[in-house]
Amino acid sequence: MGYHSIAIDGPSGAGKSTLAKLLAQELGFLYVDTGAIYRTVGLAVRDRGIDPADLPAVTALLSEIGIAMGYGKDGLQHMFLDGADVTGAIRQNAISDYASKVSPIPEVRAFLMGMQRQMAQEHDVIMDGRDIGTVVLPQADLKIFLTAVPEERARRRCRELLERGQQADYGQVLREVEERDRRDSQRAAAPLRQAADAVLVDTTGLDLEESLDRLLKLVWERLGRGKGEADE
Ligand code: C5P
Repeated sequence: MGYHSIAIDGPSGAGKSTLAKLLAQELGFLYVDTGAIYRTVGLAVRDRGIDPADLPAVTALLSEIGIAMGYGKDGLQHMFLDGADVTGAIRQNAISDYASKVSPIPEVRAFLMGMQRQMAQEHDVIMDGRDIGTVVLPQADLKIFLTAVPEERARRRCRELLERGQQADYGQVLREVEERDRRDSQRAAAPLRQAADAVLVDTTGLDLEESLDRLLKLVWERLGRGKGEADE
């Protein structure tokens, strides 16, 4: 029997990673955070002082770096860059910007596609990103397009930064959220958009539990199973 896959796409701050992680635990699927892979490329570009707009330099870098994905004992995804665990480093605010600047480059997307598809060939996965339902896993069993208004997403992002002990200025975070939305949805290569067969879920005004309930209901309807039920 083949493996199941669930694709969750949407803009940053919609709750994709938190919800995908919880769903994965609930279903016993592997959670694959594809943004982390783009962030790792962004980190490599930043660390080497490369201008993300310098296409030849970014493309050349791809064949020089080693990017790997692994799962810790905690079941959580870790990212490695040239053997070093960069799971924490890729979460810096500056790296969000680098990731969204290198992600429109077709060579970067093609380079990372193999890693993503391979995960889905070897495991039941819940994969989150921007183009999972449209490009990476067009045959996914369930596609969800998760969104929320920019103001709510900026509020969540500020909370997250403060919890990590980083500084957060709401006005600036909102501008960054809107700027990244614009870049992610207007790029030519695999832009952020809802797949025709994706279910739209707007989490504005929903708390985590309500959002999770909504997603579990969709999983139940589509995959015919819910909480605690193992695969046949
Ligand atoms: O999801 P996250 O915010 O960590 O992603 C960082 C950046 O990586 C996004 O702004 C987007 O530009 C890019 N990305 C992408 N395709 C994906 C996942 C992330 O282009 N599947």
